[in-house]
Amino acid sequence: MTAPAQFYYPNRMGRIILLSMEEVMGRNGVNAVLKLASLPALIENYPPDNPGLDFPFSTVSNLTEVLEQLYGPHGGRGLALRVGRACFNNGVRQYSTQLGLTEMAFRLLPLPAKLHTAGYAFAELFNKFTDQKVQIEEEDGRLLWHIERCPLCWERKAHDPVCHLAVGLLQEALYWLSGGRVFNVEEKTCIAAGDKACTIVIDQSPIF
Ligand SMILES: [Zn+2]
Repeated sequence: MTAPAQFYYPNRMGRIILLSMEEVMGRNGVNAVLKLASLPALIENYPPDNPGLDFPFSTVSNLTEVLEQLYGPHGGRGLALRVGRACFNNGVRQYSTQLGLTEMAFRLLPLPAKLHTAGYAFAELFNKFTDQKVQIEEEDGRLLWHIERCPLCWERKAHDPVCHLAVGLLQEALYWLSGGRVFNVEEKTCIAAGDKACTIVIDQSPIF
């Protein structure tokens, strides 16, 4: 029998997730999650800030699953959304300069072109530096963010989509890109629920 395939996030991203959890739920909250997730080695000992691919997808999905166990599906979802937003601000946003998203030429683009360009740039970031696979599709004024290999629900089974952290991350990315506007962002399909990909649908016109 061959061992199941293992996929990884960079250490840096594992660190950002844990620091973002700490920001949202406090250090005691994170310690409780790590204990329940049987990850005591990570307590007060987060991965280093480097690009090494050593933070397993199974650890990421374990963390999000335990959030739901500890706080219930509704409370866990709310926390995961907030952690996702913090992850954007603590981590992904740091790449914006490198991705050309802070240049004047980019900032002057109309909003739909901005979302299009940034969507592809962020997808590329995940595809290049992590084992997560993202494809972008555009359809009737909506941007579809297909996560084809997803750490958040890795080896999970659920009735409804569970990748709330990704939804929060994209919500915050859109808020930042648009200078403070709010968009409808929803996970419509999820690998944990038996779908082929975790698909997050983004309306390209803001709600307000
Ligand atoms: Zn997923």
